[in-house]
Formats: sequence, C-alpha cells, structure tokens
Amino acid sequence: MKIDTLLVRAGIQRDPATGSISTPIYQSATFAHPELGKSTGYDYSRTANPTRAALEEAIAVLEKGHKGFAFSSGMAAITTLLFLFKPGDHLIVSDDLYGGTYRLLEEVFGHYGITASYTDTSSVENVRNSITSRTKALFIETPTNPLMKVTDLELMIGTAKEHGLLTIVDNTFMTPYLQQPIAYGADIVMHSATKYLGGHNDSVAGLVVTASEELSEKVLKLQNGAGAILGPQDSWLILRGMKTLGVRLERQQENAGRLAEWLKDHPAIQHVYYPGLNDHPEYEISSRQARGFGAMLSFTVKEKETVPAILKNLKIISFAESLGGVESLITYPYTQTHADIPEEIRQSRGVTDKLLRLSVGIENIEDLLEDLKSVLPS
Ligand SMILES: *Cc1c(COP(=O)(O)O)cnc(C)c1O
Repeated sequence: MKIDTLLVRAGIQRDPATGSISTPIYQSATFAHPELGKSTGYDYSRTANPTRAALEEAIAVLEKGHKGFAFSSGMAAITTLLFLFKPGDHLIVSDDLYGGTYRLLEEVFGHYGITASYTDTSSVENVRNSITSRTKALFIETPTNPLMKVTDLELMIGTAKEHGLLTIVDNTFMTPYLQQPIAYGADIVMHSATKYLGGHNDSVAGLVVTASEELSEKVLKLQNGAGAILGPQDSWLILRGMKTLGVRLERQQENAGRLAEWLKDHPAIQHVYYPGLNDHPEYEISSRQARGFGAMLSFTVKEKETVPAILKNLKIISFAESLGGVESLITYPYTQTHADIPEEIRQSRGVTDKLLRLSVGIENIEDLLEDLKSVLPS
C-alpha cells in the first residue's frame, strides 16, 4: 500500500467484535486476566493499552521501522530516548535545534553527566570534528528549526555509523509522508506528534520508532519504566489526525511554496528560508531525500521595528507557538521557542530579532497572501 492509504488505514480493524471503523478508546487503566498465568495481551495501561497500541503500530508502519512508541509529549519521547545514555556519554546535536531539546540537554541531562556538542550537522567536517572518545550518538533535526538548514541524511548517517554512533532523527517537520529517515539508516526516529501528525492543535504527544529489535526492547523497557506514556484519548486524537496527513500536507506545502516566492520579492523582507526555493543551499539534497519541502518557512524583515505591528495586526495567521496544524501560525523564535538559548548563541546562529517563522496551514492562499500584504510595509 502507498503511504496515503496506510495513513487512512491507521487503526482500522482493531475491533473484530463490532467492526468499528474508528479505533475504540479503551479508557481502562487495567485489564482482567482470564486465569492464572494468562493475559489478553493487556494487563495495565502504562505497559500497553489497545488504543495506544493502534497508534504505535501505525507510526512503525509509516516510518518503516520495527516498533513504535507513544509518549505524553515530544519532550517526553526525547527524555525517554536520552535514558539510553549514561553519565560520561556525549552526543552530537544539530546546532539550530528545537529550543526545548536544547533546554532538556543543558538543564536536565547535563546534571547527570550526559553532555552534548551543537554543530551544523549539514557539514560532515563539523560532525567528524565534534566526535570524541565518549561520543555515543548523533541527533539530527532536518530541516532545522527555525533556519531550515537541511542535513544530507544518507551521508551523515553513514558518517555516524563509521564511528559506531547511534543515529536519532527528529522528523517532526517532515513527517513520514515526506521523509523516512530509517530508509537512510537511522536507528531511531522521533516526532512531536503535537505538530503535523495530530495536525489540529488539539493535543500534545510524542512518538518514537526504532529500527531494530534490540533497540525496540531497550525503548520498551524505558517507556514502561519511566512511564511517560500517551493516554488513550490523546492516542485516538493523533490517530484520527494522521488519517488526513497526506491531503493536509499537500495543501500546506503548496501554500508554503506560494508564500515563500511572494515573500522573497517583497521590499520589506530581507531573506526567506525555505528548502523549496531553488536558491536554498540544500535545495538539491532536499529534493533527493524528501518527497516535498514541507510547510515551514522562516523569514527576516529588514527593519526589526516592523515586527510588533506584523504580529499584532495579522488577522488570519495567529501569533502562537507550535506548528503543523491546519491553522497558519506565526512565531517569533527570538523571544518564544528559542528564548532559553543564550543571546550570543542565538545571534551567532541567526535566530535574531528580525526573524519570524511561519507554519503554513490549509487556508485559501489568496486570504493568506492578503493577510501578510496588509501588515508588511510596502
Ligand atoms: C515541538 C517540537 C518538539 C517538542 O515536542 P512537544 O510535543 O512540544 O513536547 C521537539 N522537536 C521539534 C522539532 C518540535 O517542533
């Protein structure tokens, strides 16, 4: 089956007793045993729950991995993955990173002796130079957030493997509909399912897919041991959202492409960061490794004084954190998602006070263009 079909089929045929098309929500903490030493396969919902299992199976199939795991948030998913490491271990991480992942590494895991170096993972040179005798893993976000830098997955995962590193890809921005990192050798893929997979800004969730049985066993133990699982109601919401991922993303990236081209030529705009623009430095790599360019784009305005009015006066595009939903959102990474990164690091990485990030939704493109036109000085 093609991916659009797999998405729609996610969770169907879970209930042979009734034939229910929608996956039932098993709102139960515990499950009765038929007799001593026997189990229905479900004992206690931290360990396994049938609604969560439907979602976990779906994401494993979509990412072409071995096993899927659902967590209470994207950060809970990353936290659980970081429990794979021990004091003294070192990770190499994309420098233009989701702010929460940076905070988790620096302010939580740093205290337990797990360290990270942040580097531009689009350069093999940089990654090689960051490897030490303690390096255990490479954690890639591609495209990055918010500057949309693209890492060549095949090349970088190959390099990491030469050095025996575990490779983890945060695939939140692309989703399995556009990019499947396990096909390029990634060991683990994770998602903030809050974003495109859920797609409606109505629930917070995290998903992990492991590529091998050995890793699946480790993550299963950590998921059950640490317990940051996704509840049945939210599992159902994410499953429901995933069914329309294909059609949503097609429309979203079509809108994003149009907006990127339009913004690029606007006199108030300095630069547009979107991998689908053919002057983007990694346009070729993007075209090769992903089925599309996604629907996230960032841009800088020429005058930082124009930012407050833009954020205040947009009518359709909401000024709100998060991304990936059907509604278009605009964020100001400098004071929102990336506020926890020290000022000089933010500046040096290009997350400046002139940068805005758009998560493009499924609205009519004319309305989106009109909305932006009305707030940008001409
Ligand atoms: C939102 C996000 C996360 C964190 O996920 P939550 O569901 O908010 O906990 C991690 N990585 C990326 C790329 C994100 O956009």
